[in-house]
Amino acid sequence: MFKTRFAPSPTGPLHLGHAYSAILAYDMANRLGGEFLLRIEDIDQSRARDAWTQMIYDDLEWLGLEWSEPVMVQSTRHGVYQKALDDLWKRGFLYVCHCNRKDILTAASAPQEGSPLIGPNGVIYPGTCRSLVNDFANPRPQDAALRLNLCGGPNQNYSFNEVGAGPDGETGNITSTCAQIITEAGDIVLSRKDMGTSYHLSVVLDDAAQDITDVVRGHDLFEATKIHVLLQDLLGLPTPNYHHHDLIRDDQGKRLAKRDDARAIAKFRDEGYTADDIRKLLGLPR
Ligand code: GLU
Repeated sequence: MFKTRFAPSPTGPLHLGHAYSAILAYDMANRLGGEFLLRIEDIDQSRARDAWTQMIYDDLEWLGLEWSEPVMVQSTRHGVYQKALDDLWKRGFLYVCHCNRKDILTAASAPQEGSPLIGPNGVIYPGTCRSLVNDFANPRPQDAALRLNLCGGPNQNYSFNEVGAGPDGETGNITSTCAQIITEAGDIVLSRKDMGTSYHLSVVLDDAAQDITDVVRGHDLFEATKIHVLLQDLLGLPTPNYHHHDLIRDDQGKRLAKRDDARAIAKFRDEGYTADDIRKLLGLPR
């Protein structure tokens, strides 16, 4: 059965872009006789607030969406994330990294390496600590970041089914290699020192735990999907279908962000708009 989810982070008000994503997923589930689930992605406790979580529920209800209970809340799932990290550590797929931002910038711009490589999330980590020795026979250190050795697994090639489209119209069978991901994103941090997990790890484990068959989300996460598919392979988890959709932009063509209060759903709500008005605004059928 088709199962999808909406997975907001309670770090600010939901805006029109979130509404678009949530309604698309909800309508798709309804059309296909499937299920729509909700997940609160609050692993970043330095930014998550209960008030934002409450506003997510209020906004989604106001938009007329219904989801199956229970709602999954990431901050209650640390045990699951720790177990997966222990497993990846024991199998030698992670490595300790003490580099800070400055170290990474310096290493990435070392003369022999050319100018720093910039990815969508800033400077790409050049793999400085990958060759250091790690003691996999003993428990992993808790006071350091752990990076994923992207090409350290048994497979080098990965693929997923794109039912929507990536930012450049990519669709159908999308293939990638671990070497490409290293070039585009670098060995990603899988466990941050301050949170004991990461977006990439949690999202993959949670989609599997919620039996998600189809992930509907913005095409800003299209590249991240390549990392997710690699992780699913390492962790023996199924790969869902992915439906990446366009992003809703402001009048200047800029992607909406949480700080763009002007587009907050709550604002529309307060100003007397209806849920149907929001659908109309977003070009979605009623
Ligand atoms: N929590 C992420 C966000 O709010 C979405 C994650 C996902 O859909 O995979 O941007």
